[in-house]
Amino acid sequence: MGAKDLFPEVRARKFDRTFICRRCGARIRADPAKVRMGKVKCRKCKSKNLRQVKSEISLGR
Ligand SMILES: [Zn+2]
Repeated sequence: MGAKDLFPEVRARKFDRTFICRRCGARIRADPAKVRMGKVKCRKCKSKNLRQVKSEISLGR
């Protein structure tokens, strides 16, 4: 009875678009392509140093 397990593809896509600022830890939802081009900045500290949420999940296991 896990609602989380219902749509793994949707969840994966959601995480694919979510990034975390390495500086202040803020979550930023943006296009991965834009982040790679350096067009996305952290709203709080204006840092371009972002990482994907995905890596955090694999580290936790
Ligand atoms: Zn930040």
